Amino acid sequence: MSDPNPASGQSPPPVCSSRGCRRDAAWMLLWRNPKIHGPERVKRWAACEEHLPVLRDFLTARGFPCETKRVE
Ligand SMILES: [Zn+2]
Repeated sequence: MSDPNPASGQSPPPVCSSRGCRRDAAWMLLWRNPKIHGPERVKRWAACEEHLPVLRDFLTARGFPCETKRVE
């Protein structure tokens, strides 16, 4: 329930969340909307190298806290 570090390497590589992009993701964006999500609720978007800045700008422009992590 509160495991912050689920086992990795068991799921297929994530695909970029950007619309129409089917590339393997190199990054994960962890974000939340503070207006509707509590501190425990974190959304995850996968992003390829090209779309990471696009997706991150989308979030930061709305004032959503976000964090990027390299996909292993
Ligand atoms: Zn992409």
